[in-house]
Amino acid sequence: MNTDKYRVAPHSKIDLKTWEPDDKGVFEGGKKEGEAALPPLNARLETLQELLYAEGKHKLLIVLQGMDTSGKDGVIRHVFEGVNPQGVSVASFKAPTPLELAHDYLWRVHQQTPARGQIAIFNRSHYEDVLVVRVHNLVPPEVWKRRYAQINAFEQQLAEEGTTILKFFLHISKEEQKQRLQKRLAEPEKQWKFSTGDLAERKLWDDYLAAYTAVLEKTSTAYAPWYIVPADRKWYRNLVISHVIIQTLEGLHMRYPAPETGLDDIVIE
Ligand code: AMP
Ligand code: MG
Repeated sequence: MNTDKYRVAPHSKIDLKTWEPDDKGVFEGGKKEGEAALPPLNARLETLQELLYAEGKHKLLIVLQGMDTSGKDGVIRHVFEGVNPQGVSVASFKAPTPLELAHDYLWRVHQQTPARGQIAIFNRSHYEDVLVVRVHNLVPPEVWKRRYAQINAFEQQLAEEGTTILKFFLHISKEEQKQRLQKRLAEPEKQWKFSTGDLAERKLWDDYLAAYTAVLEKTSTAYAPWYIVPADRKWYRNLVISHVIIQTLEGLHMRYPAPETGLDDIVIE
């Protein structure tokens, strides 16, 4: 799969209306074929993650952002299925605690970045500090406006110190969100996910789109690119993200560490 068309080139002008949330590229099949295409990718990712861990050299940071119901949790469940939990951490960033608010906004984030040989997945991230924070005026404009440059500098520093960064914006349509919210309302085992707060955020859809557009335009860099992932179809969303992660890990040309010398002569009694 060629995922290049979903990557945002640095300094692009983005009009999200021209990015189709229900795109499925050149994928011929439908949901059934799409879902069947994932397990082999899961197996490949499992192998690559083991190699990342064994080599202990690279760090991989995956940032997931998107509107409510866009599928951040689903990506974590499906794309990372089968991957050894010892090598992966998930950090879910909620509204900051008083302790977190007493620090700068990157303080809580830096602590969760991956160590060598590890994958860290951010379910929401420091980008909330230029998304929800901007939309709700939680800090004055002069404060959030300078954060784009701060975030780029932060990510550049992580990259220079050996972190590979991939950022995914899960792009759903407003109509698809309506259907997913309705499903949460209707199904007893999904109601725990429903929050009336999500309805208030939904009313601010256009403000969020504007805030996301600014993020995509200002913070997609060579060292930390954004991908705009068509996310109305869950199976296609999973395939795109799996492919990007696999291709990126393959591009690191990782090697298993050299074994101890003299292993051939060893006899285990
Ligand atoms: P959920 O992802 O459904 O668990 O919701 C987490 C909530 O935390 C979302 O409403 C986010 O907007 C909110 N949140 C995350 N980071 C921040 C932040 N830095 N400032 C304010 N709210 C945040
Ligand atoms: Mg939510």
